[in-house]
Amino acid sequence: MPVGRLRQDGDKPFGDDLPEQVALVGGQLRLSVNAFAIDDGHEVILIDTGAANAWHPTMGRLPQALDEAGIDAGRIRIVCFTHTHLDHIQGLVLADGRDAFPRLARLLVPREELDLFRTEARLKRFHDMAEPFEAGDRLGTHVDIIGAHGHEVGHSCFRASSGGECILIWGDTVHVPSLQFDRPEVTWEFDTDQDQARESRLRLLALAADDHCFVAGAHLDSPGIGRVARSRGGFRFEAL
Ligand SMILES: [Zn+2]
Repeated sequence: MPVGRLRQDGDKPFGDDLPEQVALVGGQLRLSVNAFAIDDGHEVILIDTGAANAWHPTMGRLPQALDEAGIDAGRIRIVCFTHTHLDHIQGLVLADGRDAFPRLARLLVPREELDLFRTEARLKRFHDMAEPFEAGDRLGTHVDIIGAHGHEVGHSCFRASSGGECILIWGDTVHVPSLQFDRPEVTWEFDTDQDQARESRLRLLALAADDHCFVAGAHLDSPGIGRVARSRGGFRFEAL
């Protein structure tokens, strides 16, 4: 991604004034794209699905990643979306057009984004199956949903709690980890509502730091999971 996607005060793109701490690859920002599976030993819930072959050719490796994790795609009966951007939803369908999850029984989509989801022609066969959720809803005994609107109108975070520990699977709360933990006020061009996205990021960072919750981010560098601590007016990320 070009560095100008990062926005400072007043929606102004960064350019020559890009802080030195921002990690660049060939002059560009490198974004990972992650999806996360919650396996409680009984049911596997998949949060987001990646882009399959619908975006950049470096994406679409979810089937291999599930193999590597020892999770049979046939065990995944619940898929939830943090929001409905293409790098989160297109993995429902494999590059060859088959269903990625042959036993899918529930497809949870933020209520505010049902209409957006139903504009995706490639996913037409899932349009009627989409089931709305909202902030405050629970999934089983271990997962609750926290609203984190701003990046998109229904953008949401899934909190899994077990054995006294918790993890926030927070979607697109941070796009550029080398900058946005330290300076959470920095926004992203594709945040639909920049002010609300900033407010949600600050709220989730504080929640993760103060409740000692792990975080799992769709665009955090591999492994995409770590802890958050408060630091000099901002926050610090410690990868797992
Ligand atoms: Zn994304």
